[in-house]
Amino acid sequence: MSWFRRSQENIAAETQKKEIPDGLWTKCTQCGEIIHKMELKKNFYTCSKCTAHFRVGSREYIDLLVDPGSFREYDRNMRSADPLKFVDTKKYRDRTNEAYKKTRLYDAIRWGTGKIEKQPAVLAAMDFSFIGGSMGSVVGEKVGRAIDRAWKSRTPLVVISSSGGARMMEGALSLMQMAKTSAKLTRLAGVGVPYISVLTDPTTGGVTASFAMLGDVNIGEPGALIGFAGPRVIRQTIGKDLPPGFQRADFLLEHGFLDMVVHRKEMRQTVSRLISMLK
Ligand SMILES: [Zn+2]
Repeated sequence: MSWFRRSQENIAAETQKKEIPDGLWTKCTQCGEIIHKMELKKNFYTCSKCTAHFRVGSREYIDLLVDPGSFREYDRNMRSADPLKFVDTKKYRDRTNEAYKKTRLYDAIRWGTGKIEKQPAVLAAMDFSFIGGSMGSVVGEKVGRAIDRAWKSRTPLVVISSSGGARMMEGALSLMQMAKTSAKLTRLAGVGVPYISVLTDPTTGGVTASFAMLGDVNIGEPGALIGFAGPRVIRQTIGKDLPPGFQRADFLLEHGFLDMVVHRKEMRQTVSRLISMLK
């Protein structure tokens, strides 16, 4: 009855667990389960009880995809020039400075090169915590540069999206990024370099309407909200109640908007397998 035998490793893990200091717990917003933050990290920032996928930053996401130590970041200090000198409830410049203080990021995306199970890849990952992962000129430019690099070096591209949409403080310059990234992706497709798009919760607005939905394979995380306009706006427009699960990854898979829904713990193997199949 080997089930009851506790291995030395298990005993070590249990002893370790007891030594974890208090004050590091978090509650699953979906099922209410209390989870230790270390446990959460070990579980790829998902709830082990209900499989809710927590939002993670670009650094964490890249870490869980690439081989340790293989990631090299580019254009880390690129910042928006605030060409419109935009002011709403506060100055756009103040808003970006505050976001920097909070996140230590200059904008809502990080890009670079790395290896996924020994296969070279160009990666870009978004940060929802930076002004709602909104796409302004920096997000568009970094995605553009990632695509260019993938094109020049004929290296597969992986983009992890998480966005509330276009960044209104950059007006039309923000909207232009949709055309720019889409055009570059067309060029990439022309030389047959694979592009895998991973859509995390939430991916909406201009990001969905451009590069996030243009992957050779579009992968959604379970439960992720993916759409263009939000459900409230759609409900008001069509004057009808929306079906259950509307705009969630599984619903989109069923209706042909996604190719796969993949649990985060299987993301690395899935992306790696797709790269070796498509390249
Ligand atoms: Zn849960």
